[in-house]
Amino acid sequence: MKAAVVTNFKEKLEIKEVETPKPGQGEVLIKMEACGVCHTDLHAAHGDWPVKPKLPLIPGHEGVGVVTEVGPGVTSLKVGDRVGVPWLFKACGECEYCLSGQETLCPNQLNGGYTADGAYAEYCVAPADYVARIPDGVDPVEIAPILCAGVTTYKALKVSGAKPGEWVAIYGIGGLGHIALQYAKAMGLKVIAVDIQDDKLELADELGADMTVNNKKVDPVKEIKDKVGGVQAAISVAVNKVAFEQAYHSVKRGGSVVLVGLPTGDIPVPIFDTVLNGVSIKGSIVGTRKDMQEALQFAADGKVKPIISTAKLEEINDVFERMEKGQINGRVVLTFDN
Ligand code: NAD
Ligand code: ZN
Ligand code: ZN
Repeated sequence: MKAAVVTNFKEKLEIKEVETPKPGQGEVLIKMEACGVCHTDLHAAHGDWPVKPKLPLIPGHEGVGVVTEVGPGVTSLKVGDRVGVPWLFKACGECEYCLSGQETLCPNQLNGGYTADGAYAEYCVAPADYVARIPDGVDPVEIAPILCAGVTTYKALKVSGAKPGEWVAIYGIGGLGHIALQYAKAMGLKVIAVDIQDDKLELADELGADMTVNNKKVDPVKEIKDKVGGVQAAISVAVNKVAFEQAYHSVKRGGSVVLVGLPTGDIPVPIFDTVLNGVSIKGSIVGTRKDMQEALQFAADGKVKPIISTAKLEEINDVFERMEKGQINGRVVLTFDN
């Protein structure tokens, strides 16, 4: 099968023929139809994070495809079912986190396109128990970004505790952010979109943002405090730590800051203000299988619609280059010739 492979960090991905994997016990073989390109894949290819991915690596955790073969012991899926390959590729099912509905914290998990080969390939093998069931009647290419950008931002909004009618700020209107904004609106929240690029903010406007701020031109903290008195929740899905610091200072008393984006670095947290203002700082990582079902249903119901452009697997290095330069508005989805 044809796959895009990371052989060494910071080098271009190689498009090459590799052996098509065989589904083992409890696994399914999936013929990929589409795979969204998440900024995490770029971090993986660069080896940006303290925990490194496997090498060689086939990235991709926004994969959608159709089951073509089931391994021994699989009873929940059959050939022809449409499924998604997510970041939470597999968890142990036995640890305290798995047992308490917090499987995204499982210390024994495998991650699609990071510690297990993912969906930047014509085929992918994945555990039947952890693939996402794609609702009937949806376009596999359009739904692909929900597998990560969707579930992650949906979960982050839930974790934020913000309630209908309250203000949230979304820092970074990229692949994740433009979907975060739509979930937030669907949940009845009022949204301030913050990005350093005007074209991203124009998209935010079109998607129903109640206010937009270009934080390269205007101090977003002052703007947010002046206009709405601070937000109940600020979610940073930006790829620059400056946005995280600004997000922290945007929240009102009793508010929460949710860290989702994964640039390297730290942010200073003022002890006094955090204590006296009762500010919560939370990290949020993708979502559970239940969060995934809910996030997919929002999209199937037409309440959330990723803005996508498509590219071929062979074009992945060009897509990464554009992503690095911040030139992608919405999400790029790789498609496969079937
Ligand atoms: P993206 O490249 O599509 O979007 C990033 C956006 O951040 C762009 O719109 C860019 O203009 C904006 N940005 C850059 N600097 C900014 C600043 N100073 N202020 C405001 N906006 C700024 O990336 P993506 O695919 O949306 O991913 C975003 C981040 O989220 C990545 O670091 C990725 O690894 C991480 N991520 C985390 C999870 C999780 O579960 N926590 C899941 C998926 C992705
Ligand atoms: Zn992702
Ligand atoms: Zn576990």
